[in-house]
Amino acid sequence: MQINLIQLERTVAEAKAKAANHPAWVRAIERAAQVLRENPYIELLENGDVLFLSATSNTLYQINGKCAAENGQPCKGYTYNNGVCYHRAIKQLIVRYLEAETVTQDSPNAGILIKPQPKEVRVGGWMV
Ligand SMILES: [Zn+2]
Repeated sequence: MQINLIQLERTVAEAKAKAANHPAWVRAIERAAQVLRENPYIELLENGDVLFLSATSNTLYQINGKCAAENGQPCKGYTYNNGVCYHRAIKQLIVRYLEAETVTQDSPNAGILIKPQPKEVRVGGWMV
């Protein structure tokens, strides 16, 4: 998905302010924000789930309210940190980002800093 970096930073700042009393969530939000800036392999599905390919573990995560990797198991953060993980933070940030983008889409500055999209690559005859 394309991400307006200015709007993303606003969304991240608001989320961190709301989570200020929960240090684990603040850390998860910071990690999620870094991933959203750097990782192009994030998609919002029609059912509202977020699909995320981790570049570090090469694992595909599908995130709704919970965290689940492609093997059906949640990540270690989710397991050992009372369900707090940056995958869930990614999902929340995307939801809030899209809500904010809807409100501000008439802004003349909207969309001036768009994250570059990954180049298409051919994998087994498919363009991805
Ligand atoms: Zn997770």
